[in-house]
Amino acid sequence: MAEQKRSSVWYHEICAPDLVDYATNVCDLAILPLGAIEQHGPHTPCAVDAFNAIGMTELIAKKSGATVLPCPMYGSHPYHHWGVKGTIPLRFETHIALVEDIVRGASVAGFNKFILFSAHGQVSSTIVAVHKLGIDGHFVLSMHWYDFLRDNQDVLEDPMWHADEAETSVGLYLYPEFVDMSRAEAGSSTPLIHPKWKIAPGMMPKPGQMYHFEGTFAKPEKLEHSNGVVGDPTKATREKGEIIVTRVVDHVSMLIGEIMEQYPVGVRPRTA
Ligand SMILES: [Zn+2]
Repeated sequence: MAEQKRSSVWYHEICAPDLVDYATNVCDLAILPLGAIEQHGPHTPCAVDAFNAIGMTELIAKKSGATVLPCPMYGSHPYHHWGVKGTIPLRFETHIALVEDIVRGASVAGFNKFILFSAHGQVSSTIVAVHKLGIDGHFVLSMHWYDFLRDNQDVLEDPMWHADEAETSVGLYLYPEFVDMSRAEAGSSTPLIHPKWKIAPGMMPKPGQMYHFEGTFAKPEKLEHSNGVVGDPTKATREKGEIIVTRVVDHVSMLIGEIMEQYPVGVRPRTA
């Protein structure tokens, strides 16, 4: 795809006529990075999930020709995140409406295919948004970067949790200036039932396991009196982050290439 035809991969950095020209003639797939403003322990900032989504989608767009929509930064949160200092959850209804409105607005400029790229566990709103938009004729895929960690068990020692080895490694690669490894320390959370019954983020699923957002599996974080970390960020390295990010970028770029080949620019896959 013709990367040289635009000054930026970011929707909000491009003038409207150039944006429309690009979506009409070159590539009409837009990615919406979705993060969260959430406490991430004493060693990484509250915008980790937004930063991860922004950093990875920018690299994906450069490789694939897709355009990146501005990241709304705030996200929706599972029940056990609410009431924690540093975390600002949107209500599910707010987040669903936010995603819907962004996709509808961007489609006016000529974008016909959408990927919601989340760096934070918010399927409770993104899946609902996908189906509401699908009913109205919008082609939308939703993904979470950590689901690609199923292919990274050769890189990471532990399954992904929160402000841990995986997230901190990505931070050390994408925005090391915001990560203070001298304050990194391991932490944990209290499961309400044995963890063997659910699939952790990024873990290979086993038969009969529930997806980790299909139940109220965890004790509320505000009752834990912990350091806000689940997992062990002291195991994080920049090298691990680079391998993970590169694999995610390659994987999503391959998906985008396949979509654009099957449905060339100007063609909207029919959902309604
Ligand atoms: Zn996170």
